[in-house]
Amino acid sequence: MPPFAFSNWPPSLSEDQLQELTLIATSYALSHGLLYLPVAAKQPPAPSSAIHAPLSLFPSPFPRQLFEQAQKLQHIYNTLYARIAMDEDFLDEVMGAVDGVGAVDEFVGQLWKGWKQVRDEDAVPLQLGLFRSDYLLHSTSDPPSLKQVEFNTISSSFGTLSDRVAGLHRYILFANGYYDSSPHLKAENFPPNNTTAGLAQGLAAAHEAYNVPGSSVLFVVQPGERNVFDQRWLEYELLERHSIKVIRQTMSDLAQTASIDLNTKVLTIKTATLSTPVEISTIYFRACYTPTDFPDSAAYELRFLLERSRAIKCPSIPLQLAGGKKVQQVLCQPGILERFLTPADASTSSFSQEDISELRASWMYMWGMDLNGDEGVEKALTNHGKLVLKPQREGGGNNVYKASIPPFLRTLDASERQAWIAMELIEPPEGLGGYLVRAAGPEQQRREHEGEQADKVVRADVVSELGIFGWALFGLGKVNRDEEVGWLVRTKGKDSDEGGVATGFSVLDSLVLV
Ligand code: ADP
Ligand code: MG
Ligand code: MG
Repeated sequence: MPPFAFSNWPPSLSEDQLQELTLIATSYALSHGLLYLPVAAKQPPAPSSAIHAPLSLFPSPFPRQLFEQAQKLQHIYNTLYARIAMDEDFLDEVMGAVDGVGAVDEFVGQLWKGWKQVRDEDAVPLQLGLFRSDYLLHSTSDPPSLKQVEFNTISSSFGTLSDRVAGLHRYILFANGYYDSSPHLKAENFPPNNTTAGLAQGLAAAHEAYNVPGSSVLFVVQPGERNVFDQRWLEYELLERHSIKVIRQTMSDLAQTASIDLNTKVLTIKTATLSTPVEISTIYFRACYTPTDFPDSAAYELRFLLERSRAIKCPSIPLQLAGGKKVQQVLCQPGILERFLTPADASTSSFSQEDISELRASWMYMWGMDLNGDEGVEKALTNHGKLVLKPQREGGGNNVYKASIPPFLRTLDASERQAWIAMELIEPPEGLGGYLVRAAGPEQQRREHEGEQADKVVRADVVSELGIFGWALFGLGKVNRDEEVGWLVRTKGKDSDEGGVATGFSVLDSLVLV
């Protein structure tokens, strides 16, 4: 048993107790908007039913010291990624279509070329990042250490739902008499999770900085998005707490509704339900992170039109590029972190050597397939059992693991390989259990209807991934404001390589600090 787990956790339950607690949990989830759209609802524009999001019945233990360390690191990461997004030379070199990974990755190359076209027209005064830094516990040391999986700069999801899962777990434990049943189960070990308020505060800060009365925030979303409630909660928070209106559009909606004044660069949206066109202050992308969001060249042109506008982008194309796995790998090279965190320019704030060492200590070893001719590939082939290979993609399901690496590398030609990085696998502690609850699929619902028991909850050995949310408002070489705003726990069965709630690998969870 790893040192931070505590005995009899999660509690062992009889079948009846398990079914009863599952009902209590799913009822809370359905009542509190901890929701997801079912697969069948993908097509119609106005779905009439929802399912609860996949969830864990009990919170997972997490070492307090490492949780606090991740919260502290978030401030450094907010500034680091803001500065990367403002460093054109660095991004050209690492992600560009001439010298960087954009030369061998079509999607990255397209985004970079579009950005290059528009970036010289006018200095963009401000941009916004809503970030999520993801970590796993690494157990080869005792006690375990915190290791970063990746840093997300676009469409970081599950902020508002994770806030609600923390509420669900406090309720389940309190209402069912688990509080005080162990010295670990007391209020001070359940940290607040106010991610909804925190992320909305970031969007509101951008909107206020734009400072045009009557303007709205634009959410750019994917058609048929199943994780729509996670996004809607942010919309309602902006309206209710900040009196800011949100317009929600897909890229194909925007092809009809968006226009930009080429002199003022003001972006306006005109829709059937709006009486007059509305000026956009801030564009929040919950789409455009994957090639399928760009079915044709017109979609890229539209994305570049949005980039050209004077609305504050969350993220801008350079900030999206900064989130590439290639950037994460290049940051590991000697001197690169110092370039961003201890700048020579005395007017720019500097971080301490301890901060830099702490950040580095949270990284796994990474290298590019472009390392010294064939050396990168050779190293990946030799060590494949301890590695994951990653391309420049977001959204889960894109990585290649362990034994699949050698045959996969052989399918790529020398130039295609350059778009991939190798990362040593984090080895999470073993021996932790959890109860994972998923909404029954259509087939199970049919069986349930016929009186059969649908199998919704399973006990499994699990691995949990912590995400810390933060935001930064920055531009013209300066970070104006940054905040650490909340957290997310996703838990998966220990034998699944990937995580990802949307991709069906994991469930939403929360934590109890130990
Ligand atoms: P994406 O941007 O698609 O989410 P990630 O880098 O987060 O890509 O990888 C997806 C999942 O793969 C992670 O959530 C994690 O579960 C697993 N994973 C990624 N890198 C590692 C690693 N170095 N060690 C162990 N698991 C990893
Ligand atoms: Mg990602
Ligand atoms: Mg991820």
